[in-house]
Amino acid sequence: MGSLAGEPDAALAPPQDGPRSAKEPGGADGRALKRACQHRIFVNRSLALEKIRCFGFDMDYTLAMYKSPDYEELAFELLLDWLVSIGYPHEILKYQYDPTFPTRGLVFDAQYGNLLKVDSHGNLLVCAHGFRFLKGAEIWNYYPNKFIQRDDMKRFHILNTLFNLTETYLYACLVDFFTNCSRYVNCDTGYKHGNLFMSFRSISQDVREAMDHVHLSGCLKEKTLDNLEKFVVKDPRVPLLLSRMKEAGKVFLATNSDYNYTDAIMTYLFTFDPGDKVQRPWRSYFDLIVVDTRKPLFFAEGTVLRQVNTDTGKLRIGTYTGPLQHCAVYSGGSSDMVCDLLGVKGKDILYIGDHIFGDILKSKKRQGWRTFLVVPELARELHVWTEKSEIFEELRSLDVLLAELYQPLDSGSSERPDISSIKRQIQKVTHEMDMCYGKMGSLFRCGSRQTLFANQLMRYADLYAASFINFLYYPFSYLFRAPPVLMPHESTVDHVHLELRELGLLTGHQLHQLSFHGHQNLRGIFQNTDEAEDDDDD
Ligand SMILES: [Mg+2]
Repeated sequence: MGSLAGEPDAALAPPQDGPRSAKEPGGADGRALKRACQHRIFVNRSLALEKIRCFGFDMDYTLAMYKSPDYEELAFELLLDWLVSIGYPHEILKYQYDPTFPTRGLVFDAQYGNLLKVDSHGNLLVCAHGFRFLKGAEIWNYYPNKFIQRDDMKRFHILNTLFNLTETYLYACLVDFFTNCSRYVNCDTGYKHGNLFMSFRSISQDVREAMDHVHLSGCLKEKTLDNLEKFVVKDPRVPLLLSRMKEAGKVFLATNSDYNYTDAIMTYLFTFDPGDKVQRPWRSYFDLIVVDTRKPLFFAEGTVLRQVNTDTGKLRIGTYTGPLQHCAVYSGGSSDMVCDLLGVKGKDILYIGDHIFGDILKSKKRQGWRTFLVVPELARELHVWTEKSEIFEELRSLDVLLAELYQPLDSGSSERPDISSIKRQIQKVTHEMDMCYGKMGSLFRCGSRQTLFANQLMRYADLYAASFINFLYYPFSYLFRAPPVLMPHESTVDHVHLELRELGLLTGHQLHQLSFHGHQNLRGIFQNTDEAEDDDDD
């Protein structure tokens, strides 16, 4: 595949949506100059790609994208089998994985058995008990403040990863089954069956054990490797992009998977056309390969760094202390050791992963790495965002209606406008919007409110996209600029110069300058600079 490197490929060249000449009108905000939305990389904090000296990769769900829903169906069946083997009723085997139900980032409440969608403060956005969605009074009954203290990790389990999708659905199925099965009596915190009590807490422990079993025993990996074509996306652009990245800087792999699984998956991803004699081994695309990384521990104290015998897959005894060896594979270690071995520091590294906590939050907070979050759901989210724009408009127009009702009133008004029908409309439109994404709604929002996941993404991921493959559409000299994040007092105030004149805050000269540069330039003043965002926000 090495022969592909550096060759221009007509299919990959920026199409009509690519950069245009400066003479072409780009619109006030340059929208016409942007790449097609499915090829784009989105920017939370500005990043100069030419300053990146090292690209780090996670493997599962990043380099290796699992095919949905086939992969989740497989994991779901294995989870059910395990639960039946430890004594759960056979009837649960009737459930089949439904990809339209779970959304990532939900929280399971082990006290009441509810699946919750929350914002970044822990305020409830959606609440489901099994497949039944709870409404107003019922939610208040469980959660008197419509709020959870999500720091209580023993009670609230955050289901943030793509692997958690099956777990999320499993919680809904189990609660649905026991709630509706006549042999069990429904209680607040679980179910009674004769003189047995099964709490939601014990169900959640069993589900956790089932997850550990499926992922650690090797049964999911074995079945995946048995039918790679069914479960893993193979994309010829992966070796092409990796070879281009290796020309631009150093490239490393840091995966929690073991060597044998990593080797099998990567060999599959990087092997094309069996007739081609010049097959380039997958390891040659990387300067450093680390397996068994145990992220997020890897970004803190880490574990002992060992070398892997690539012939047997076994670990060599003792801690590896030598220099970096070409195409060698290491096990364990820490992010500090990666920096030492590659001779780079945190800010030189762009780490690309799909796990908001284990890959992105920890590498950013603990090590100051630059971060890229892979969010496969973005493809669907963008589809809804673009296809259902009228729903977003409807929500906006309801806000305008509210403003109109209140506009003539002040603190002396005794009149109380009836806003109940507008509030009902907002709820209806919000629900309609949610249903466009799936039964639990969007990964990022509920109506006009953002989820915890969206908040974490904006705080910790410098860049994000549906796939890392979108780097193919940008030159390595690219400057990713964050769009200005306007605060409510900036985004809702249109005629700045008038407001300032009214407030008497500007002299005539300053007013002239502002008018001259225009509103768009004013926005630019507030835009993050590459230097400014070096100060982390936490
Ligand atoms: Mg991963």
